[in-house]
Amino acid sequence: MSGPSVVFEAIAKQLVKFLSCQVNSRNIRFIPLDNGVGTCLLAAECCHRDILNPTGVIVASAQKTFYIETFGCQMNFHDSEKVVGTLISEGYAQVQREEEADLIVYNTCSIRDKAEQKVFHRLADYKKLQAQGKRFGVLGCVAQQEGEKIFERAPHVSMVCGSASYRNLPQMLVQLEASSAADTTAHPANTAQGGGAASFGNGLVRITGLDDRQTDKCFETEFTARTNPHRGYITIIEGCDKFCAYCVVPFTRGKERSRTSASVLAEARQMADLGYTDIQLLGQNVNSYRDPEGKKTFAELLAAVGEVQGIKRVRFTTSHPRDFGRDIVEAIDAVSTLCDHVHLPVQSGSTRLLDAMQRLYTREQYLERIAWMKSAKREISITTDVIVGFPGETETDFEQTLSLLDQIGYDGVFSFKYSARPNTPALRLDDAIPEEEKSRRLEVLMGRQKEIQVARYKKYIGTTCEVMVEGFNEPRRQWIGRTSQNKTLNFTACSEAAPKLGSYVQVRVTGSFPNSLLGEMMV
Ligand code: SAM
Ligand code: SF4
Repeated sequence: MSGPSVVFEAIAKQLVKFLSCQVNSRNIRFIPLDNGVGTCLLAAECCHRDILNPTGVIVASAQKTFYIETFGCQMNFHDSEKVVGTLISEGYAQVQREEEADLIVYNTCSIRDKAEQKVFHRLADYKKLQAQGKRFGVLGCVAQQEGEKIFERAPHVSMVCGSASYRNLPQMLVQLEASSAADTTAHPANTAQGGGAASFGNGLVRITGLDDRQTDKCFETEFTARTNPHRGYITIIEGCDKFCAYCVVPFTRGKERSRTSASVLAEARQMADLGYTDIQLLGQNVNSYRDPEGKKTFAELLAAVGEVQGIKRVRFTTSHPRDFGRDIVEAIDAVSTLCDHVHLPVQSGSTRLLDAMQRLYTREQYLERIAWMKSAKREISITTDVIVGFPGETETDFEQTLSLLDQIGYDGVFSFKYSARPNTPALRLDDAIPEEEKSRRLEVLMGRQKEIQVARYKKYIGTTCEVMVEGFNEPRRQWIGRTSQNKTLNFTACSEAAPKLGSYVQVRVTGSFPNSLLGEMMV
């Protein structure tokens, strides 16, 4: 057999492999690896332990297994998709339970004290698994913030890797594997700029990847194990240079560094070719994006991604008010695939407090950006983040935040009690707000916002919205859809017209709740 028939057979084999995995109803992708082989991701029962060649033929069986758990924001979840891809490309297979794994990794968040405590509790819970020879790795913001102190607090941890060092993971994994047999290769004291390993002869192995803030490297990898086959994330900018007084991110994620618009667009096109229709651009401050080659502004990049053939929806998060230009609204007006939703964290409605938080905008400047969005051709849904109980927040400051909520009419507010974080300037501020008062303010704010949302969501009753079908809720016999405005719209459909996951359908809204809509699919 030669020529076209060989190619045909190759495609057919790959298709069979793909379909047989789908029978097990998992999201899987054939991920091409650098040496021409590939691996089928996340299909637990069939081939997830196999390395496939491009024709779908098993060429090796992976021996090493890992379990990953992710805490925190969307960026962390997407980082984990890249870490999973990297581990698989290094010959590891993902398992769904800690007990089955050789390597257990936690991708961590330290934005608030509670998130950080959760990580250490999880690590303590699983210390007992060390006796079975399992290895533990801590990745992400807690890793970068606590560094080698993690080894003291949780001596069973073997690997600590901050998010700015993920590109070193393959070498770190090699060190981890080699360390079981070998002796010391380097002392951890030498590791601050990128990595090192130490074995202490008592079973303790310590491998670190900790970058300084100045790194200009991004974690770009072709090995991304995207878990949703329809919606995919692309990180376009990493780190943060804003240094808000309360926030640990500039210390844990390094300085702001953007990818070239060419590489972002290449990834978007590749995703469209794989069948993705919904792309979300990510960054701690996504709109602070600066193309290193100077070819595109953030708004131009947004528009270009929205024009990629096959892409039906583009979202972006999180936007910082300081860098939010009118051109972003103009892009949303001009390109229909750009979603009519903007998440623009305000943090406080009081200019005095915004100044103390070092946000570098006033209430009036923030409202100007809201006015741009409110004058857009399509109604743009706006959501925000608010912190209550920042040191020195008076009752008047808090009242101003409540009046801002009334004035703007957000479709959603993520509200947090201020949490003191290491290294941040706010640690030096007096006038801490007692915990009970923070809780009271949070409750008042959430109550006020709920009333606003009840009224806002009611407005949609009787309208028709396009949704992307995301799932099916069996007990309720309802399909789960998401509107372009990022609202959840649960709906019914007659059994003959059951929609496909990932498809876009028209739904008539028949009811509303504070956080979701209810409807019936139009046929
Ligand atoms: N870069 C975005 C911005 O500036 O608006 C925010 C990203 S931050 C990871 C997500 C949210 O966490 C912030 O908007 C803020 O409301 C909250 N946050 C950050 N540090 C906090 C702290 N120390 N205490 C409470 N909430 C905090
Ligand atoms: Fe944190 Fe401020 Fe940077 Fe946002 S802009 S990540 S709140 S320091």
